Amino acid sequence: MAKRDDELVLLPLGGAGEIGMNFNAYGFGPAHDRKWIVVDCGVLFGREGSTPGIDLIMPDIRFIAEQAEDVLGIVLTHAHEDHIGAVPYLWPQLRCPVYATPFTAKLVEDKLVEAGLRGEVPMTVVPLGGHVSLGPFEIDYVSITHSIPEPNSLAINTPLGIVVHTGDWKIDPDPLIGHVTDTNRFKALGDGGVLALVCDSTNALAQGHSGSEARVKTSISELIGRLKGRIAVTAFASNVARLDSIAKAAREHGREVALVGRSMHRIVGAAKETGYLADFPRTLDEAEAAQLPPDRVLYLVTGSQGEPRAALARIADGSHPNVKLGPGDSVIFSSRIIPGNELGIFELHNKLSAIGVEVLTELDHFVHVSGHPYRDELSEMYRWVRPKIAVPVHGELRHMAEHARLAKSLQVPEAVVIENGQMLRLAPGRAEIVDEVPSGRMFLDGRVLVEEGEGFARARRAMGFAGMIAITLVLDQKGRVAAEPAIVLEGLPAAVHEAIRIAAGETVRRYNPKRADEEALREQVRRAARRAAQDAWGKKPITRVEIVWV
Ligand SMILES: [Zn+2]
Ligand SMILES: [Zn+2]
Repeated sequence: MAKRDDELVLLPLGGAGEIGMNFNAYGFGPAHDRKWIVVDCGVLFGREGSTPGIDLIMPDIRFIAEQAEDVLGIVLTHAHEDHIGAVPYLWPQLRCPVYATPFTAKLVEDKLVEAGLRGEVPMTVVPLGGHVSLGPFEIDYVSITHSIPEPNSLAINTPLGIVVHTGDWKIDPDPLIGHVTDTNRFKALGDGGVLALVCDSTNALAQGHSGSEARVKTSISELIGRLKGRIAVTAFASNVARLDSIAKAAREHGREVALVGRSMHRIVGAAKETGYLADFPRTLDEAEAAQLPPDRVLYLVTGSQGEPRAALARIADGSHPNVKLGPGDSVIFSSRIIPGNELGIFELHNKLSAIGVEVLTELDHFVHVSGHPYRDELSEMYRWVRPKIAVPVHGELRHMAEHARLAKSLQVPEAVVIENGQMLRLAPGRAEIVDEVPSGRMFLDGRVLVEEGEGFARARRAMGFAGMIAITLVLDQKGRVAAEPAIVLEGLPAAVHEAIRIAAGETVRRYNPKRADEEALREQVRRAARRAAQDAWGKKPITRVEIVWV
């Protein structure tokens, strides 16, 4: 039973406004005494252009971390990085139990071991269709389809109503691996009355239906049958059904399969360990595969998004130790071009073309379907669940806004677009934003978690653009210049070095310690060096001047 001042709120700290780093907190209780659960805890991948040197970005969860004793658990929907990738980095701020189905739990455990947290995180493995009881939250896992084994929606029962949190999903009547969408369960939830549907917006702009894995399987098999020479297929390793389709197609056409890339081995291993891929063809190691005639081998390779350190990029560079491709060979990109990755992917296509490899992609062949619902599927979900409130998540604002319009057109009484950090009261009363809490992004920089605003990314971009000048001035105890300045130039073309040396040297020679102090000297030298770089080159490097006393 709900008490008079109890409220049910949703607070996204990640994923509302970007496709990535999902983190949704649900709170129940009076404003001063809420219990929380966290649904998903994911990362976003950094990009060299905008966040140089940063591999992982994750939500700033300080608001929830400050009340960690009231966080009852982290409940994970599925094993994609944008849903589990931050667990090793953010769990230490919450130290609460973690819940996941077997395949997801296995991949999270691997991450925890890698992060040195073996045995520290209380992890409960929830069976498919299982139940988790956390204070005022009674949570049912509901099977759905997506592009990874064991995707789940959550039916979150509270004294103020039921929230259906979809997680990532699509409707695939033939997903090849795992359960089909538990249609009857969603309809039954709708019949019982659902307060809010918190739903995936990734493809809210796409008309029609996302299509089935089974059709991709047929199409890829035909394609593999037609190709001569070596074949490499790149796909997300987590799309285990796709890997299975490709491996079986290879065997049908007399090709042996080799896995290439760390995540291929890791995920195929986790899938087998949790009971999937029972009839996955035996795989060869890279060196064995290299001994086979070209038309007897197929490589399953990581790096479909053009990631520079992944296996496919190294193959394209000719720097992979065991896998060599050349004229007559083909690479199939069985994956989507994720917006923002176009440049890297097209560069990879070009490198492959340059070594004579034929590149086949979703742009010219039917080799991929999305794992997220198109508009027809969203409409179907709204017809099943018939919520009072629609809350689009997992999208950029343009996706979420269009998703809200679609929900309204389907007679959902209230559709609310919220951004990270906005606390939405779902009940009682009309859905309403009742608070705005600190939110933002944290960067994993090497091994250190830093705040986005710390400015080093700007400094790195600036250094990438115009390099750096470091000048050391040598003064004696009376403040007189005791030696020529020592100048280090990083990332500046040789043609401008001399101008900078001359400018710094002249400034130092003009210095009179009776008329100015060393701080003034330091600033004069800094400006002179930057001005010389600007005049000779048209760019102003970051410039640092230090003084040593002898
Ligand atoms: Zn996702
Ligand atoms: Zn996903």
